Amino acid sequence: GASTKPQRATAEGKKAILDKVDCFIFDCDGVIWRGDSVIDGVPETLDMLRGMGKQLVFVTNNSTKSRAGYLNKFTSLGLNVAAEEIYSSSYAAAAYLESIQFPKDKKVYVVGEVGIQEELDLKGISHLGGPADADKRVELTPGMLLEHDHDVGAVVVGFDRNINYYKIQMATLCIRENPGCMFIATNTDAVTHLTDAQEWAGNGSMVGAIRGSTKREPTVVGKPAEFMLANIADKFGLRREQICMVGDRLDTDILFGKNGGLTTMLCLSGVTTEEQLLSPENSIHPDCYMDSLAALLEVKKE
Ligand code: PLP
Ligand code: CA
Repeated sequence: GASTKPQRATAEGKKAILDKVDCFIFDCDGVIWRGDSVIDGVPETLDMLRGMGKQLVFVTNNSTKSRAGYLNKFTSLGLNVAAEEIYSSSYAAAAYLESIQFPKDKKVYVVGEVGIQEELDLKGISHLGGPADADKRVELTPGMLLEHDHDVGAVVVGFDRNINYYKIQMATLCIRENPGCMFIATNTDAVTHLTDAQEWAGNGSMVGAIRGSTKREPTVVGKPAEFMLANIADKFGLRREQICMVGDRLDTDILFGKNGGLTTMLCLSGVTTEEQLLSPENSIHPDCYMDSLAALLEVKKE
């Protein structure tokens, strides 16, 4: 299409967005923090936005922690955030199962870490797998047959630093052999910055393993899926025109915002470079972009 090249936000552009929107949805890694360090100027910017009466919401695709786990992280980083302002893809998986009235007599097989388990527990959804299967091995002796639980009605796949062949086979058996078993992905991020030195395989690789063995496409509940947006808009009584999505990743954050009809802002403080953003290969164009969230502070100085 004839979509225009993304523009670096001007002082007037930032002011126009601040005048128009009542709520900012922030991606976490790459916008608020990078790994375990807060990005420069972010605390001051959040304070400024709160001072202007803006609703702030924080949405992360990282499923390794629950919302409670993220509340601890925000607090330990010195950021003052309320529990209701946090949405993680671990929570999205549990909330999705609740929304479709996942039967009480069915269980979830988890490929993932504690975040998903904690959120399923809060919804009273039975689960197995996850950290409990971290050290399981399969001995491929002749006649070896792995038994799976026939009451598993959904497999949830999130980022799992202890994924192994046992978990892959369990997830595969449940999806292929239990009638109607769902395949849910918290997110499909290709890579992530687990360390500053390089990019590391993200949950896209774990979801890809199960997609490969089952030939099924997952239901994705994290960004860019709109599932969490409806929840946020409902809870805070917002229309889409009142919301601005701020993210560092084009195929999750910015696409999430664009699919949802939100204003979109890209920060270059995370995974996307200016070169990638402006490349003719990229068709996902935010309304504007900035070096980091701190660039909004300029508005206050006038
Ligand atoms: N998944 C994992 C495993 C991660 O480590 C990260 C970022 O650190 C993400 C996803 C992306 O998180 P966010 O949506 O906050 O950028
Ligand atoms: Ca991010």
